[in-house]
Amino acid sequence: MRQRRVWLISVLLVAVLAAGGAWLGVRFRHPEPQPMAASPVAPEIPGWMERTEAIMGTRCYVQLWADDSLKGNEAIDAVMEELRRIDNLMSHYKPESQLSQINARANEEPVQVDKELFDLIKLSTYYSQVTEGAFDITYASVGYLYDYRRHVHPTEAQIRAALPAVNWRNMLLDEEHHTVRFEHPGMRIDLGGIGKGYAVDRGVEILKARGIAHAVVTAGGDSRIIGDHLGRPWLVAIRHPDDPKKVVTRIPLSDTAMSTSGDYERYFDEGGVRYHHIIDPRTGHSASKVRSATVLAPTATQTDGMSKTAFVLGAEKALEIINRMPGFDAVFVLPDGRVLYSNGLRPPATRPAGAPPPKATVASPAPP
Ligand code: ADP
Ligand code: MG
Repeated sequence: MRQRRVWLISVLLVAVLAAGGAWLGVRFRHPEPQPMAASPVAPEIPGWMERTEAIMGTRCYVQLWADDSLKGNEAIDAVMEELRRIDNLMSHYKPESQLSQINARANEEPVQVDKELFDLIKLSTYYSQVTEGAFDITYASVGYLYDYRRHVHPTEAQIRAALPAVNWRNMLLDEEHHTVRFEHPGMRIDLGGIGKGYAVDRGVEILKARGIAHAVVTAGGDSRIIGDHLGRPWLVAIRHPDDPKKVVTRIPLSDTAMSTSGDYERYFDEGGVRYHHIIDPRTGHSASKVRSATVLAPTATQTDGMSKTAFVLGAEKALEIINRMPGFDAVFVLPDGRVLYSNGLRPPATRPAGAPPPKATVASPAPP
């Protein structure tokens, strides 16, 4: 935590950083501009390599330092293959996936699935508990009524009818047989809020097993960094919710995961209302208490599981929870543009000597 704080202060002293690079929720930046090997050349040529592919309905990205570009390329292949495997297991868009099998049959009978999928569903209930129900994979019981691409949202009557099926406690999970059974009619689940974080962690394991010591793996809003950027931290920019070219803050990071959720990722506006993809399980409406939330923690499954909380519970409550979780930090962009930081990202200078750590800081546009 202290290290992050020091990094944050030091990065604010850095005047201007080179622009460029595509980004979704976050943008990874080389500490100083350097040439990148965009594609593999010959074997045994060391260098940075990167690749982007569309998997899991989103942009997946790997960048790594390889001592041997052939091996680096194979490592990226292996990560992309793993992301596709996880998508085939867990996508609710693919009728043949095990997750779709649950949605098709768990209202009638216990549905047996691979331990891997079972474990992630079980883990999702941990985040439901920690977030006081803000994270709930059964949100899908009402979530399926939205189609952001076609600008479709449910009526109030449709929400009222579907909402009783949203409750993670109505998933009956049998540890011994790895079965899932729904105990309320009309239930559906969707792992869109944790599956990408999990996939990123799996990708990182694959890279580490191949001896890769400097890398970043991203799937949608979820990323994890291995090591540093050859002796310096990676600089991660959090974008402005309304302008992808504007940066709210930059955080230097090494060996950590981060997830950014935003109301600008999948959405449409209608009648002054933004209908976007993070749903409040209590109301069935898009959850709009913040514009974006970035969570930092050791693994991307952890950060993904926590990055929806502030949208539903509000930034103050989410910070209370995050500040209690060792190894977690967060940056929230509020609807009025203010930026809120967890205790671990606050510069110590703002605290009077001897004062107890305050609950939260409001700062704009970046922490002092
Ligand atoms: P990304 O998919 O880009 O990583 P997020 O991590 O913000 O984006 O996850 C958003 C996704 O989470 C939604 O598209 C949906 O699949 C799922 N989701 C939406 N609301 C909830 C919720 N209350 N609890 C759990 N998952 C949710
Ligand atoms: Mg995510």
